[in-house]
Amino acid sequence: MSYLDYRPLSSLSRAESKGLCQALWDWNRYCPDCPDSSTNDLESICHKDDSECPWKRRFHAKRAFIEFYKKAAQRYPPLPFSRHAQVIHKHQDLFDIIAFLRRADPNHSRSKCMDLYFDPVPSNDRETPICREKAFLLAARILTMIGVTMYGERAWYMNESLNVVVTNSFPPDPLPIPIKDRRWIKIRDELTAYNLVTTAKLKIRPTDEVQNHLKLDKQGNLFIFHHVGFIAECLRVDNDRRRTEPGYKSPHFPREVGLEILHTLRVLFHQLDEDGRQSRKLLRKLIANSEFDPLSDEDVVWFYTDSEDEGNRVQAFPVFGGRLMALNDEIENPKPRTAWDKWLHRHSSPQHALMLALLSLVLTLVPSVLSLAASIIQTVLAWKQQESGK
Ligand SMILES: [Zn+2]
Repeated sequence: MSYLDYRPLSSLSRAESKGLCQALWDWNRYCPDCPDSSTNDLESICHKDDSECPWKRRFHAKRAFIEFYKKAAQRYPPLPFSRHAQVIHKHQDLFDIIAFLRRADPNHSRSKCMDLYFDPVPSNDRETPICREKAFLLAARILTMIGVTMYGERAWYMNESLNVVVTNSFPPDPLPIPIKDRRWIKIRDELTAYNLVTTAKLKIRPTDEVQNHLKLDKQGNLFIFHHVGFIAECLRVDNDRRRTEPGYKSPHFPREVGLEILHTLRVLFHQLDEDGRQSRKLLRKLIANSEFDPLSDEDVVWFYTDSEDEGNRVQAFPVFGGRLMALNDEIENPKPRTAWDKWLHRHSSPQHALMLALLSLVLTLVPSVLSLAASIIQTVLAWKQQESGK
């Protein structure tokens, strides 16, 4: 088998996708009576009531996230090495790394984490350090939903902790206006997805990279992190941990970032006026095209903050406030997006306006001049006829 044919994660069974939920969100803890997840027909034999068993209650809702996982996993292995060089040969190998990263000290460097996880001596002599690194990066990508890479802006370097990558991905960029200020209330009411599409002429695109939420590119694409099911599940785990460890915050998916993203979705899609109704219609279209997580149109968007203080902090948009203001600017000062808009924009300077006015004056005068000339010719001809008839 050539390295090109070796795709150990190219398909995902139902039982394996349950293993993913277990690795990320401890679902076995919620329903320890659930039968062994190696079978494919768990639902028919779990005796727990629906409200208690996440495998029954929430599993179907994870469609969008599981599709993302499949796409990410299918690309493994990323390098032209033989199958013996790889460290992931089945989904469970990847889930084990994810579960390890969740338990590991978030301040450990990547190199320290890898030393703790892997045997100093590889299980076979062709397993290479770079394959170990790639396996860790893939696990971190799925655990954090940040586009973690080996080099570049989102790199998780050997001497750096995952905590640093997460913190650097969400630099503070708060709203410049207090949330109770009338200017912000007016902006917030007009900041609907419907206005962004119709007035600002933006195209809404789903993104799987959480750090790109509400980013806008030069072509007018507005990226929205739509994995509401993923956010809700991370927040549930967080809430559970907080019961026994007050003040606990997940180091891999920051609680306040998750709550803030849900709140931005409420502003853009779930307002109660006519624009809000149109925005929800737009959202349902995005879901129907299989692009958006269906949960973004559900009650789960209203996942709650656990104190008034936390609510106030989230509503001040400490991370995405600047991007919301940039979107407001797009509505207030729409930029030319279509080819026609751009042409008009290019030709709307004062000189062009004067030229256009002169051109339209000439075009208006031409028919009058022509008809005047025609009547002169007719008069001359008639006069000549009269003269010759005399
Ligand atoms: Zn169960």
